[in-house]
Amino acid sequence: MPKPARAIQGNFASDTIDVLTGPDGEPRYLLADDPTREFSYRSPFILELEITRRCNLRCVHCYAHAENRDFGDELTFADFCRVLDQGRSAGIRDLSLTGGEVFMHPQFFDILDAGLARGYDVRFVTNATLVDEPRLQALCARPIKLITVSLDAISPAVHERVRGPGSHRPALDGIDLLIAAGFPLSIITAFSRLNIEDFDALLGFCVERGLTWQVQMTSAKGRCPRSITFSPDEYYAFGERVAAAIAARPPITIVSMDDLNTFSLLQPLGDLWRFWQGLCVGGLLNIFVRATGEVTPCSALAFPECVVGNVRRDSLAAICAEERCRKALAWHRPDALTGACASCPQRQECSGGCPEILLCMCKARTENEYCYRHIEERRILAEALGDG
Ligand code: SF4
Ligand code: SF4
Repeated sequence: MPKPARAIQGNFASDTIDVLTGPDGEPRYLLADDPTREFSYRSPFILELEITRRCNLRCVHCYAHAENRDFGDELTFADFCRVLDQGRSAGIRDLSLTGGEVFMHPQFFDILDAGLARGYDVRFVTNATLVDEPRLQALCARPIKLITVSLDAISPAVHERVRGPGSHRPALDGIDLLIAAGFPLSIITAFSRLNIEDFDALLGFCVERGLTWQVQMTSAKGRCPRSITFSPDEYYAFGERVAAAIAARPPITIVSMDDLNTFSLLQPLGDLWRFWQGLCVGGLLNIFVRATGEVTPCSALAFPECVVGNVRRDSLAAICAEERCRKALAWHRPDALTGACASCPQRQECSGGCPEILLCMCKARTENEYCYRHIEERRILAEALGDG
């Protein structure tokens, strides 16, 4: 077996994936701890299941338009069980439950148990504000692979600016309860103009508690207003902070998410490129089923043009077997790039970067203005022309 070209931690915080180059030149994705597990569009690594869009909070940047109401069009428990069966038929063994807020689903523990009973390794994402003693006891009775808490600030004012009044104290208390109970925990933060001032405080919080920190950029989709998202230059400065934090070798793992892992000519920013997974792995490492039943290659690709089916009428196993996610992302390829991306030496390796960013932050989906290299070249040109 060829040696791994690289090992990536990807978006999963708990698993390392080896990326090999196959004899045909195509990347191959294997679990580092168990190389018998190889992932493909037919058999992805992880099923992300949005169990509800109901949420007790109303965050400014929510891609799911989540809020505290009955949406009336969501999958039933029987639907979830069917999807879980189909996922296992496709060979999927990891399951991530997301929302909305998972604890707002009255059958959250039933769904979790249905996943465990089918042999999934189960993790979930929560805002942690509803973690109380009874829920903690219920969680302690189950083998949970990872709990990821979405936390966007440490200071009360910034937290509540993003997540709404009264959201701060319960979130931090919930995290402390989960830590005290000994769960494997990671924090995920989406940065925007609203919370970038808390970058150092969040880093300090994770270091103090020994928590893995997943870092990404807030993008303009769902109900997130474009006005709070970064400009390309702000994105660049944000990337520099993340790269510097990693280069300082903190005693925790910082996972730079795909939207931050574009190419740079400069260090330490260029080091983020090693987190890039070789191509968009939507549908290959992760596949996303929305509470409405719609299936997209990745939770970041919750756009109508990325829907590859609906589990109300299509089997998830058939969606995988037909490699619909590969087909849906066929536009994301090096020879389709335009502008600065078309002449970039890295285009074969990145195809223009994360398609989520291309779709909701860029003028065209074939040229990525949110790329470090792109920004650096623009600055070099501006300087040469005396506009810098
Ligand atoms: S859409 Fe972006 S975040 Fe999702 S797998 Fe593709 S590159 Fe990664
Ligand atoms: S300029 Fe475009 S092709 Fe080049 S590294 Fe950046 S996103 Fe990729």
